[in-house]
Amino acid sequence: MGDRGIVIVGAGECGGRAAFALREAGHTGPVTLIGAERHLPYERPPLSKDGMAGGMPAARTIADADRFDGAGIKLMLATEAVFIDAASQTVRLSDGTDCGYERLLLATGARPRRLPFAETSRHCLYLRTHDDAAAIAARLAAEQRVVIVGGGFIGLEIAAAARKRGCAVTVIEAMHRLLVRAVPVEIADMVADVHKANGVDLRIGTSIQSITDIGEGVAIGFGDGRSLTADLCIIGIGAVPNAELAGAAGITIDNGISVDETLRTSDPAIFAAGDCCSFPLSIYGGRRVRLESWRNAQDQGALAARNMLDAGEPHAAVPWFWSDQFDLALQIAGLVDEGRRVVRRDLGAGAFLLFHLADDGRLVAASGIGPGNSVARDIRLSEMLIGRRAAPPAETLAAPDAKLKSLLAA
Ligand code: FAD
Repeated sequence: MGDRGIVIVGAGECGGRAAFALREAGHTGPVTLIGAERHLPYERPPLSKDGMAGGMPAARTIADADRFDGAGIKLMLATEAVFIDAASQTVRLSDGTDCGYERLLLATGARPRRLPFAETSRHCLYLRTHDDAAAIAARLAAEQRVVIVGGGFIGLEIAAAARKRGCAVTVIEAMHRLLVRAVPVEIADMVADVHKANGVDLRIGTSIQSITDIGEGVAIGFGDGRSLTADLCIIGIGAVPNAELAGAAGITIDNGISVDETLRTSDPAIFAAGDCCSFPLSIYGGRRVRLESWRNAQDQGALAARNMLDAGEPHAAVPWFWSDQFDLALQIAGLVDEGRRVVRRDLGAGAFLLFHLADDGRLVAASGIGPGNSVARDIRLSEMLIGRRAAPPAETLAAPDAKLKSLLAA
């Protein structure tokens, strides 16, 4: 590796992890981490959970400035990469300077999908960054009427936080149920029940036609002609990968920045990882996916670091995701839509697991929900079974007393 070293664009979960992983893998040359936000790299999951429920969310940083310094990582915060000149291997920065690279990692993440007719509203907010969370938290006072557009994970976590703060909360979901893309109906139903029990007004199958500012609030108009007024509207309708920088540099884009199994883009000197990239998942026969998940960002950051140093390791991790809402935690290992048959195991106290099997009996995903940590251990074991492409007997999976660990030993 020459003098120009390695540049990472995006100082989030993935970029921050990648920078340290380069050092752990023995890289001694220059490492520059460029981040558009003014904050040190921090964790996003708490922003919609306890942090928000408690008031001003605390930024849980990945490492403090001294640790970056100590590892010889040059941090350039509040600085955006605006252009990549792939021919000269240079990144143009928002301060007008150029930064040369031998290897470049794009860890640019994703941004909230915008609702076009809410663009001019002063009372419609989105959540992605610490600053977004602070702006929302500052307005979640008791008695405030909060409408959340989108019954996905982020919308529902904010709904739970807002109820804990004493707000009147309505969730609007256009599809026929909550969490359509991500979880099986049994789990979505349990999530819906806990929200209703905690006083959230769920409006499922409801489409919005208009959002208009009226004085210190908003009027939300529905397809059926009815309307609702609120003090604050939070929009959580998905995320869009930040792939424009790569696209403008001529790198192949396919549902985000397209990478191969080693996280290399169509330009051999440039890698991409985390929420911004789509990649082939070997456990599902190379199916291309883009994941928006904390652990994937960490794993891929570390893998991209090793592969920028020519390790040539393929991505082999099983996708894993969790969400906390009220006293419930849900976890998913693998991709639920790969399953053709579901086997249920009840764990007591309302907790249950669903095992998703392929036609040939292989375990391809496991999902579970319950209070606190009740499903964590079994999902962890399921993840290992999925990774091993195991085909456990359905009767064993269904039996509450059968130990998943024994299936691993088999
Ligand atoms: P990001 O964390 O988005 O970081 C990308 C960084 O790149 C950003 O700081 C951005 O400003 C910067 N950037 C972009 N373009 C440029 C540029 N041109 N120049 C310089 N910098 C640039 N996952 C779970 O598994 N479970 C959860 O419970 C969960 N909860 C979440 C709650 C919230 C509110 C959010 C927003 C996400 C949550 N996630 C959760 C998802 C998880 O946080 C993300 O998958 C993870 O942060 C992705 O990491 P990343 O580094 O790829 O992207």
